[in-house]
Amino acid sequence: MSEPAVTIWNEFRHEREDDDVAAVYPDGIQTTIADAFDSHSYEVRTATLDEPEHGLTAEVLEETDVLLWWGHRAHDEVSDAVVDRVHERVLEGMGLLVLHSGHYAKVFKRLMGTSCSLQYREDGNTERLWIVDPGHPIADGLKESIELPETEMYGEPFDVPEPDRLVFVSWFEGGEVFRSGCCYRRGNGRIFYFRPGHETYPIYEDDAVRRVLRNAVDWASPTEGAPRTFGERE
Ligand code: ZN
Repeated sequence: MSEPAVTIWNEFRHEREDDDVAAVYPDGIQTTIADAFDSHSYEVRTATLDEPEHGLTAEVLEETDVLLWWGHRAHDEVSDAVVDRVHERVLEGMGLLVLHSGHYAKVFKRLMGTSCSLQYREDGNTERLWIVDPGHPIADGLKESIELPETEMYGEPFDVPEPDRLVFVSWFEGGEVFRSGCCYRRGNGRIFYFRPGHETYPIYEDDAVRRVLRNAVDWASPTEGAPRTFGERE
């Protein structure tokens, strides 16, 4: 099998506009996430909002097995033409990993069909992600939980459809809980929403988080499947 082709998409605005974010992710969140795949068997490229077509041309998407999506401040600036294109590729079978504040990305909301709203509090307290589906391939090689010492809290209710499989439930020091690792299928595509990743904490340097990202790419990579034929049949 050839190496999964991974495209890491980042809005890349916070890092250029806020000093406290640049201190954590000086080369952009996309570069730190790309490091998670370094010295493992993946073909990785990055793409950002301010590139032509947001770096997501038809050709790039055609060559992408799994797309990772990090956005926050500028969801509305993502063009509908690119959203249409990503949406179409997911239905064809491209995997999609939606990270943290990507819950409000246009393409995620379209794929879910709900508001994707949640509660949040930026307090820098501890989060513990409990693995509630230990046999799931996304949990391979992990301990029974992942502890992140400083995070932004996301709390339920999280207005998404019931996931096909739920891999992580987060507990927060403030007492809230959250469905932090949600698996979906849309068309031929596999979608994984993964909560951790606020821009002012070095979440994507954590080894367990990096393992989850690699496992999720492996899980979401397209399989050959059978032809999908629709319309009138002779
Ligand atoms: Zn955040």
